[in-house]
Amino acid sequence: MPEGPETHALADRLSTLLVDETLTYVRSIDPALQRRRGLLEGQRVLAVEARGKALLTAVEDGWTLYTHSHLFGFWRFVEDLESLPDGAPPRLVLATVRGVAALYAAPSISLWRTDELGTQPYLSKLGPDVLDPAVDAKALLAHMRTPRFARRTLAMLLLDQGFAAGMGNYLRSEVLFKAKLAPYRLLQDLTTGERRRLANALLDVPRRAYRAKHDDALPPGKDYLAKTRAQFGFEVFERKGDPCPRGDGRIVEERLAGRRLYWCKGCQT
Ligand SMILES: [Zn+2]
Repeated sequence: MPEGPETHALADRLSTLLVDETLTYVRSIDPALQRRRGLLEGQRVLAVEARGKALLTAVEDGWTLYTHSHLFGFWRFVEDLESLPDGAPPRLVLATVRGVAALYAAPSISLWRTDELGTQPYLSKLGPDVLDPAVDAKALLAHMRTPRFARRTLAMLLLDQGFAAGMGNYLRSEVLFKAKLAPYRLLQDLTTGERRRLANALLDVPRRAYRAKHDDALPPGKDYLAKTRAQFGFEVFERKGDPCPRGDGRIVEERLAGRRLYWCKGCQT
């Protein structure tokens, strides 16, 4: 599943295709959206933004298209409508004079008044986005004081978009390793210094992953899928049995909060 860095890189890719251009063609296999496509067609695109793992495409007339790829949704970019591959039809097609973006598989797609986006169920629950340049360690530390987080484990919190939007499973292992924290710790038991390490790692690791994607941008027209392992060198994720990079143990794999987690019992305490 794409995590924050992949979603933000995808927003950049969509921006080069859509922003400041007029939507010449909009099609969806969702009947409700297909009926309302006139609200988008002919409109100029103002911005494409990532929020957590959702993408928001805003047009000038006060409407915003919300898409969330979930586990299996993915985007494909082609030069023109004729170049869309045969086979299962896309759920959504957006075209400008610069090209065509198509969203496949099983995403969520809905159209919102831009000024009512705050009531969208997914967006309304998001915590600070670790890839939002306006979010800093101070903001994360303040958010960590929210009472409902206190008695939860770091392993659970680091998958909760309400705790830190844009986080996901590979980032969870890497953030905990960077912060030298064991996954079963409860947030309320962390010292001030440990909280600060966690906040810094929550900002540093996803931003490094995002920058790695930009250094290795895919050429236009190619499928966009996260190829994370090659682009962003994991220190612990999927490295079960390897020696810890800090030289004090071996990486173990555990299932925590339903997902694979990799960590070192030597340096993460
Ligand atoms: Zn270690």
